[in-house]
Amino acid sequence: MSSKKRDYYEVLGVAKDVSTNDIKLAYRKLARKYHPDVNKTDPRASSKFIEIQEAYEVLSDENKRSNYDRFGHGGVQVDMSDFFSGGIPGIDELFKSIFGEFSPFGGFNGFGGGSRSRRRTAPRREVGQDIENHVEISFEEAMFGVKKDIPIERYTPCDECEGTGAEDPSSVITCPECQGTGRIRKMTQSGFGTIIRESACYDCNGSGQVIEKKCKVCNGSKIVPEEKTIHVTIPPGVENGVHLKVQGAGHVPSVNAIPGDLYLGIRITDNGRFIRRGNDLYTPTNVDIVTAIIGGKIKVPTLDYKENKIAERELPLPAGTQPGTEFRVKNRGVSYVRGRGRGDQYVIVNIEIPTKITEKQKELLLKFQELNK
Ligand SMILES: [Zn+2]
Ligand SMILES: [Zn+2]
Repeated sequence: MSSKKRDYYEVLGVAKDVSTNDIKLAYRKLARKYHPDVNKTDPRASSKFIEIQEAYEVLSDENKRSNYDRFGHGGVQVDMSDFFSGGIPGIDELFKSIFGEFSPFGGFNGFGGGSRSRRRTAPRREVGQDIENHVEISFEEAMFGVKKDIPIERYTPCDECEGTGAEDPSSVITCPECQGTGRIRKMTQSGFGTIIRESACYDCNGSGQVIEKKCKVCNGSKIVPEEKTIHVTIPPGVENGVHLKVQGAGHVPSVNAIPGDLYLGIRITDNGRFIRRGNDLYTPTNVDIVTAIIGGKIKVPTLDYKENKIAERELPLPAGTQPGTEFRVKNRGVSYVRGRGRGDQYVIVNIEIPTKITEKQKELLLKFQELNK
């Protein structure tokens, strides 16, 4: 095999007397060109990259380089199997591990050179899916807040097997296909060297473990459906159509996972007496014709934040009130959720014209009309 090897200097395209720095620069340029992450068009890219990597391993090391200079390929033993044991590292990771300490390229500081990190990154915590549900509440409940029990259906780790999917702990065995690494490598020999391809193990889905006897409750799926009641406190002043987030009430896909959230849509049932615009309330109020003319007192519904209910409140009505008049009652609207104060309430006067009158009333109205001339 060694007899066919190209000269390492030739591989990197540098002269025999270049500095280590220049070797790094040349390597970097070529690795950029032939790394299989980057070069997807040239079928020889992988083997070229491996060749470049090997040349770099030798020429960047003072001792190996001097042995190579004196004795050629026979003078150095290069075992690349360790380097490629996890497959060809990603180009970013590779450069970080090699150039981490090497400032001229910039950007890769703090990664202590030489210690190559493996391809596998630290496992990230799985995040459960969110659940969407809705709840109908009355206007009064929306105004003053309410506690509701919300039934949900979600997935959680199986209690029986503690989320392992196995009948008992001894049923979980190291995957024989990948020997627990979760990854399988395929090597193929080409005229240019060894091409290594790596992928997740099919047998264990990359987990490195397989189950011999499945848990009878979850049938090996590790999760079970759960029906649960979530107690939700709906804050006062909530608006129609909003979604309240209940953290952690969503699906739990595995023991160590971060549960998803519950998004609870709020539907406020129509209330015939109040119209809400922001924190202002509009209350259309029927007033009889005589009170509108001579003045008096009217009753309007209002929010009583002391008793947390809708109460009746008497308001004076001036004589001669016209249809559609709006009376603004300050600070009688909806309480602001944050900060103090309330919106305003607007009483909209709707004057009721009687549709049926008695003979006596007609007589009096005609008399009224006579006097009104
Ligand atoms: Zn496996
Ligand atoms: Zn189970």
